[in-house]
This record gives sequence, structure tokens and C-alpha cells, in this order.
Amino acid sequence: MIKRPTRIERLTGGLVGLLVGDALGVPYEFHDASTIPAVELIEFQPPAGFARSHHLVQPGTWSDDGAQALCLLASLLECGQFDADDFGRRLVLWYDDGYMAVDGIVFDVGIITGKAILAMRQNVPALEAGAGDEYDNGNGSLMRVLPLALFHRGSDSDLVRIAQLQSQLTHAHMRSQVCCALYCLWARRILDDAVDPWNEAVGTLRTIYANKPQELEELEWSIRPDDEPIGYGSGYVVDSLRSARMVLEAGNYEAVVRAAVRLGNDTDTTACIAGGLAGIRDGIDGIPERWREQLLGKTIFSPLLKQLLARHEE
Ligand SMILES: [Mg+2]
Repeated sequence: MIKRPTRIERLTGGLVGLLVGDALGVPYEFHDASTIPAVELIEFQPPAGFARSHHLVQPGTWSDDGAQALCLLASLLECGQFDADDFGRRLVLWYDDGYMAVDGIVFDVGIITGKAILAMRQNVPALEAGAGDEYDNGNGSLMRVLPLALFHRGSDSDLVRIAQLQSQLTHAHMRSQVCCALYCLWARRILDDAVDPWNEAVGTLRTIYANKPQELEELEWSIRPDDEPIGYGSGYVVDSLRSARMVLEAGNYEAVVRAAVRLGNDTDTTACIAGGLAGIRDGIDGIPERWREQLLGKTIFSPLLKQLLARHEE
């Protein structure tokens, strides 16, 4: 019988799983699904002849997804709670100085996130910096939110509230906020080894949103959580959530992140979003050792991981 991962192994798997997924997807970003190598050939180093994206970036490097997720984790750990302005300052620091980036090099930034960071740099309050148009629902706030679910130990409704605030810094539209909330609850249910994590998370969210028509409308009519998940690995927040749900069924951690990359398009982000969940589900030992070894930036994330685990061991 396979040993079920401990809580500590799941938390570790969540953080490392999102970083490894992001790093795995980086060389394949922007490629159409038809040009992505066969699943068994998807590695940090793509097969010879594949025109890799970000070709100057070393294999094993996480991108904006991983760096911003670490900005969030560092802010939560240092402040002891979510502090929007502190988190915003760290995003600016990432953009300007490569804070939490491997070798301090920033090579990728989403358009909507970039605009919000420039606004925050000009002292717009963090919670007012995000774009709120319906067309601003990229996956930029979803891709970095997982550390909140790993850190937070309060009620489900408080987790939902903060997940939404976390989105608001860059992606203020209610659709993005609700996607972040659902993803965090889903991650929490996986962490708690629930029998049916997705449906349990959806049920909880429906209760929390019972008197919130705007939130409920986004949940039921945009996200459509009861539909069969079919995702295309695009940059649209709802599609990213669906893609993650779809590829999470592909098998073990390795199969999940490879299936995410195989979708093409926003490969690093899909693999980051799905990889974090697969990492929680399978625990750190479920992540292939070669990828854990080849992952760069260990001196950046290891101290944060240690602090995160210490909080849960208290
Ligand atoms: Mg990226």
C-alpha cells in the first residue's frame, strides 16, 4: 500500500510542486499544442531541435509565477497575515530588482500585472491598483495565490476573503477573485485529504456566497463548476482553472505537469497552477527527484519553506 503523505510532506510538495511546474513549462511557453513534444520528452531541457522560448534562461528556472508566489509567501510570513500594501511593495521589488527571481533576472511579466505594478510604484494603494474590466481576467492572480492556502489556518470564509483581496492588487474583476477563492479552497481540501476535494470546495463556496449575488453569478455562470472540465491552457483565468482540473486527473505529479505543458500556450502557468495541487496531493516525494535536483533558486525558497513548515509544527 502506498503511504499517504504527511501534512508536512503535502505542504512541501505544494510549494516545490508549483515551482517545478512553472520551471518545466518555461521553455514551452507560447507554443501551440501541436508543436509541443510528446509527453515523455517534456523535461526541463526540451528535446534537440525544439525552438525553446526564453532560450537564454537556464533550465530549472521559475518565471513570474513562481517569483510572485514567493513574494506572497514572504509577505505572509513576515507580516504574520495578509497585508496588501506589503505584498504590493514586494511585487514592485520583484519587477524592479528581481526580488525572488532566480539570479535576480525578470524575463516575463503579464500585461495586466505589469500595469498594476507600475501604478503601485507610483503610490496607488495596492487594493486600488488592479484592473477590473471583464477583459482583464487573465490568470495572473491565480498563478501566484497557492502560498496563501498553504499559510492560512483560519476559517474557510476568511481564506476566501483574503484570496479575493490577493487578486484585487492586479486582477480586480470579480471573476478573477472568485477563481482565486475556489482554487484556495480546493487546495485546502486536497491538503486535508478530502474524499472529493473539488466538489467539497464548490459546496463550501456556494454556502459562503449564499448572500453574495455577484460572486455567486461568477461562480455559477462563468466558472460553471459542475461542468466537465475542458481546458486549453490559455491565459484566461477560468480556462486555467479548468485546465488544472482536467490535467490533475492525468496520473501522478509527473504526468500532471507534463499534461499541463502538453496543452501548449501558457504552459508555465498551467503547470504551476496544476503542479502546486499535484504536489499537495502526492507530497514532496511524489515529485521526480531529477526535477527537484535540477530546480534552481534553492537558496531563495528554502528559508521560506522552512518558516512555513515551522508555523505548522507549532
Ligand atoms: Mg510565467
